[in-house]
Amino acid sequence: MTRIVAIGECMVELAPCPTPDTYRAGFAGDTLNTAWYLRKMLAAEHEVAYFTAVGHDDMSQRMVAFLDAAGIVTAHIQRRHDSTVGLYMISLNNGERSFSYWRGQSAARRMLDGEGALQAALAGADMAYISGITLAILPDCDRARLLHGLQVFRDSGGKVVFDPNLRPRLWPDGAAMTGAVMQAAAVSDICLPSYEDEADWFGDATPDATAQRYRDAGVGLVVVKNGPGEIMVVADGQRVTFAPEPVLDVVDTTAAGDSFNAGFLASYLDDGDLERACVAAARLAAHVISHSGALVALDAPPLVPAP
Ligand code: ADP
Repeated sequence: MTRIVAIGECMVELAPCPTPDTYRAGFAGDTLNTAWYLRKMLAAEHEVAYFTAVGHDDMSQRMVAFLDAAGIVTAHIQRRHDSTVGLYMISLNNGERSFSYWRGQSAARRMLDGEGALQAALAGADMAYISGITLAILPDCDRARLLHGLQVFRDSGGKVVFDPNLRPRLWPDGAAMTGAVMQAAAVSDICLPSYEDEADWFGDATPDATAQRYRDAGVGLVVVKNGPGEIMVVADGQRVTFAPEPVLDVVDTTAAGDSFNAGFLASYLDDGDLERACVAAARLAAHVISHSGALVALDAPPLVPAP
């Protein structure tokens, strides 16, 4: 049995309905999306937990109930009296999606306030999963505490998985973002960057350069995603490339990378085979981008594009 703890922020998502000015409330967030897909992909004996903070209000309770219903362990979620969960709203203009966020004061930003809460969540776990968004939302001192906690976890045999998920809007400037990302890489065993973002912010000339930069930071296994392009995996003495099957009718790329990560990890944990993990990851991501929304049922029928 493997126990995985994903650490980050789940938000309320307001998605537009066909009736004007009507929105449907759901829940999503990068690390939560990965946890949700991991729960679906892994056999029942494995455990997927989520570590975050929420409020005591109705929406916070509903969020935790949603995670519970998905089979995600919520026992270590912090509950705060002074704040609530963050929110984002999707707007559609001529088919183009744009996002508005209300997350600046969210409870998740204070998830490390509780003394010993992270240590309790990681006790007995095999794997911790974080992203660049997890890093971005924390105050500087709490980010340092998180990275220290992950180093201690690693020293006791735990594995740390990190998706840099670069979001410059969440950082004061590019240098703060790239600096924190490389600090997190230094405590990570598996890193799952997306080449396009990495090229923009680190100036990597090729996916190989991205892989090498993380390898140089001490990461054992680097998986470089590249949209529809070739996936590259580099580990000790191994270099695997894999061309994902093209998806011709992309409906919504939300959670492409998050679902890819879950597909990769579930398969890799199963048999350690890198090529098979790429196949599983690309297949899950292809399914997700062929549907609307971040969280897509694995048995959702393919959407038929409008004639
Ligand atoms: P992110 O969402 O983190 O930016 P990417 O855009 O690199 O991540 O996409 C993650 C994965 O989703 C890719 O490695 C690939 O497997 C799949 N994917 C994304 N776009 C396409 C596409 N147009 N066709 C096929 N697969 C895609």
